[in-house]
Amino acid sequence: VPLEQALGATLAEPVRADRDYPPFPRVMMDGYAVRLVDAGKNVRVIGELAAGSTWDAVLQPGTTIEIMTGAPCPPGAEAVVEKELVQGDPNAVILPGTIRPGQNIIPVGGECAAGSVVIDAGAPVTPLALAAMATFGIETVCVYPRPCLAIITTGAELVPVTSEPGPAQIRNSNGPMLAAMARQSGIANVCLAHVPDAMDELGRAITAASDDEIIVLTGAVSEGKYDNVPKALEAYGATLVFHKVSQRPGKPLLFATKDRQLIFGLPGNPLSCHLGFHRYVAPAVRKMMGLEPLIPPAFGVLTKAITIKGPRTVFQLAHVMDAGDDWVVRPLKGKGSADLYSAATANAMLRFEPESGLHAAGSRIDFEWIVPAN
Ligand code: AMP
Ligand code: MG
Repeated sequence: VPLEQALGATLAEPVRADRDYPPFPRVMMDGYAVRLVDAGKNVRVIGELAAGSTWDAVLQPGTTIEIMTGAPCPPGAEAVVEKELVQGDPNAVILPGTIRPGQNIIPVGGECAAGSVVIDAGAPVTPLALAAMATFGIETVCVYPRPCLAIITTGAELVPVTSEPGPAQIRNSNGPMLAAMARQSGIANVCLAHVPDAMDELGRAITAASDDEIIVLTGAVSEGKYDNVPKALEAYGATLVFHKVSQRPGKPLLFATKDRQLIFGLPGNPLSCHLGFHRYVAPAVRKMMGLEPLIPPAFGVLTKAITIKGPRTVFQLAHVMDAGDDWVVRPLKGKGSADLYSAATANAMLRFEPESGLHAAGSRIDFEWIVPAN
């Protein structure tokens, strides 16, 4: 991709220096280019050299050139004395008694040699990496492709945020949430469709997404009469990999493939849906983009006790705050997996093993950030 489109992607090849850097002996300070034998002497100023210009004649003892930061050191000059360290008038200056050889000059190749690896494959393209690539003349760069992702929300009860809900309707919140999560994961292209619970419309929406690398469906993946996602995927020709995970929330999660396409059926409950993207879709996207699938957990101190019963792994949203030495982790316990009221301010997720009992207030606990940076 062209350099300006690479931000946030992962390098698929190393970045190498196209020539020695600096490519000429670069002056690091505004000052005077001098010969070492002239230390402590009064020398004649024979001209000036600004950044972007060159000087051909060899500098002779007894003379100096006023020189600017970024200019190439003239031949014969052995050091550059900072402007602040000389005295005199525009025509002649007195140099300090001690001058170090090479003072304020970076020699050719002093930063890196031609051909050396500046950034390894697998590194993210950051603004600084972009700057390095621009320096090394890299116009286009090979990065892992960012997948395109189709989101299909399902449910006759759902209306978009722009419509007034009827008596038995609620607003579609999973659509905007999944689109936002997809963008946060670095997806190149997100498209969003909504279908009521009819089988034929669901089938058409899935077929319309057949060119995308990933399809994420939400809702209609459980045991209800209108939970058509498993049937529709079968009709589409997808291969079921798993359906149902021993976790809370988000048990009815489904994963299927069709050729190289990945298909995730996430439950409709907003927090189950969030968990499904965070724990299943996002790691797959990271892997496809050449990154480590899982971000290592951080740890902090639990603010209030939490008891885990039952045979499933429990995921719990939390709000984590900086408390100086430690992260303070406050679980956001709501009324089940549809409760966005208590979840809206979450920035982290906790994982508890099945039947793990009491986790006391004050105990240390691992958490995963669910927001990119804090
Ligand atoms: P389902 O998985 O289709 O049985 O839906 C489970 C619950 O989640 C139901 O209460 C749905 O109304 C709700 N739900 C499903 N899809 C969405 C959505 N896109 N936005 C908000 N709530 C949803
Ligand atoms: Mg539904």
